[in-house]
Amino acid sequence: MKHNFGAGPCILPKEVFQEASEAVIDFNNTGLSILEISHRSKEFEQVVVEAEALVRELLDVPADYSVLFLQGGASQQFAMVPMNILPEGGKAAYLDTGVWATKAAKEASKLGHVEIVASSSDKNYTYIPKDFAVPADASYFHYTSNNTIYGTEIFDKPKVSVPTVVDMSSDILSRVINVADFDLIYAGAQKNMGPAGVTLVIVKNDLFGKSGRIVPSIFDYQQHAKAGSMYNTPPVYSIYVSLLNLRWLKAKGGVSVIEQENIIKARTLYEEIERNPFFKGTASEEDRSRMNVTFVMDTEEQEAAFLALAKERGLIGLKGHRSVGGFRASIYNALTISSVNALVDAMKEFEEKQKS
Ligand code: PLP
Repeated sequence: MKHNFGAGPCILPKEVFQEASEAVIDFNNTGLSILEISHRSKEFEQVVVEAEALVRELLDVPADYSVLFLQGGASQQFAMVPMNILPEGGKAAYLDTGVWATKAAKEASKLGHVEIVASSSDKNYTYIPKDFAVPADASYFHYTSNNTIYGTEIFDKPKVSVPTVVDMSSDILSRVINVADFDLIYAGAQKNMGPAGVTLVIVKNDLFGKSGRIVPSIFDYQQHAKAGSMYNTPPVYSIYVSLLNLRWLKAKGGVSVIEQENIIKARTLYEEIERNPFFKGTASEEDRSRMNVTFVMDTEEQEAAFLALAKERGLIGLKGHRSVGGFRASIYNALTISSVNALVDAMKEFEEKQKS
């Protein structure tokens, strides 16, 4: 058995993959593949309608927000956000908590003035800056809620007086959030929602047209909202597999139930990292992510030996991002507690072997 601790793309439950694979041959007894059926057919329209309804239900999205399924990944949102809500000559505030936040700010700086309100780059993004002020004349404040590479996460929305935009690519649907606290949430689907190729955007309708710029239609939130995410050919398969996964999450009891599982999984792993003298967590304790657990060992030899043992035990995808090194265990919704236990067992086994 394989335990996939990879950071993506697309870690979903086996039963979702099974059902998804069947639809490639025969979608809902239509005799057609989900890949060939018209995206304007009633059957596919129903897929989009149900996927949107499930996102609204699972995240309790208020009625004055649009739920969009777009393409271009979270990276496209780095550009679409300022295009849509940063006026010509305007200012935007960004919190710099890592590579993705930096990239988002860089795109915005091509369209206006960006103020970096705080950065944790001084310690390779191992913590979340707490003391910062967001200028009241900023058009919006942007932050990344889960820093996939560094294993830090912001659970409480910073208190600011301007509209808030959050990149939730790697923690959306992993914990309960209050959507009304935010003005715009975006997330590449490929961690907890579905396959790469679709990007979820939840946008408060009063942001439409906010930048006053002429925005090409394909990058205009309002156009996509008007068209019900069907402005152009949507990523049909990614949306369909996301729907299957959203159904799976609902059947499990929803986001509050998965959040409890995620808390237990993260606690189990962090406790072992703290207990076991061979491993050391890299993220500051109060900012530790529930989705990506980053840790190192004292020497490269130990890391190579542990990686080899992990491989033997079917534990894959553990190598850390090149900018952090060591290990990263991504423990998204679909990764079970028994997989976390298998990793903890391997860490204990490593410790025992060193003693003997
Ligand atoms: N933001 C975060 C937090 C991410 O983890 C990633 C990718 O892993 C991105 C943005 C970039 O997403 P995409 O590859 O969908 O453009």
